[in-house]
Amino acid sequence: MKKEPINKRDMKRYQLQAKSIIETLPYITEFYGKTIVIKYGGNAMIDEKLKRAFALNIILLKYIGVNPVVVHGGGPQIGEMLNALNIESHFRQGYRVTDKATMDVVEMVLVGKVNKEIVNLINLHGGEAVGLSGKDGKLIQAEPKELAIEKNDAPPEIIDLGKVGEVTSVNTKLIDSLLSEGFIPVIAPVGVDENGETYNINADSVAGAVATAMGAKRLYLLTDVPGLLDEDKELVTSLSAKEAFEAIRTGVVTGGMIPKIKCCLEAVANVEKSAIIDGRVENCILLELFTKSGIGTEIIY
Ligand code: ADP
Ligand code: MG
Repeated sequence: MKKEPINKRDMKRYQLQAKSIIETLPYITEFYGKTIVIKYGGNAMIDEKLKRAFALNIILLKYIGVNPVVVHGGGPQIGEMLNALNIESHFRQGYRVTDKATMDVVEMVLVGKVNKEIVNLINLHGGEAVGLSGKDGKLIQAEPKELAIEKNDAPPEIIDLGKVGEVTSVNTKLIDSLLSEGFIPVIAPVGVDENGETYNINADSVAGAVATAMGAKRLYLLTDVPGLLDEDKELVTSLSAKEAFEAIRTGVVTGGMIPKIKCCLEAVANVEKSAIIDGRVENCILLELFTKSGIGTEIIY
């Protein structure tokens, strides 16, 4: 069958398409062969449209030669399972006190369920993702997290959070080898200490530690707010390390935003730019990466 000549309207549309692809060329050149660590969580992990967009963003990055590494959360999913099993949850300063029974559930949900769902999501849309926990290839070494509550006159109260951990080191060997074979690593935030004890770690902190260890070009933390908000609830578009310290000290940053800002601060020497971005915005990863201004809060040196 003979091919019809292209009509004017289609031609115009294709020209626009070609132009916008060309516009991304400087970014593609800049990020080619570079690693981007993405913390995935919140609404972007629940809403079907956002889930699909996330998978397509990650796959697109892979096909243009960028190396995405995904670290995911799963607090709400853990909460649901604990409820179903009638295991009570206690929180201290935003951390889930994690006894042995709770840790078993945390590990089952994060590694067995949430991690595999994300791997499946990416693979269904045409990627090749591989799920890992911090135990695989000795990826994430951890120690118990020390939480001290300052008291006015008395010595600080030390809170025992059980199996809540902090990253002590990251072994990037397995991630490197997966990336070099074209896979997309998807990491569950579970770590292990030298005695083989398992720890539940904040996913932002894991993403920060992985980005630091890999010398990633970017660290993106997806969340359910536009970014860091100031006292007037306005978006802070850019923050220096000094201003970030100040925001924590003055109490502008509280709750779940604290580990985000802290891990960006820890990454600042090894990662060119970290950003907290709104995971509720469709294609937020591409919008952050392929635009001059970005969409969220960037933390730079
Ligand atoms: P996730 O880790 O799933 O993205 P979190 O609830 O752990 O979500 O962290 C994000 C939350 O941090 C926000 O929903 C908000 O309630 C809280 N937060 C505290 N201080 C700020 C701030 N200054 N700007 C924005 N969010 C803040
Ligand atoms: Mg959080």
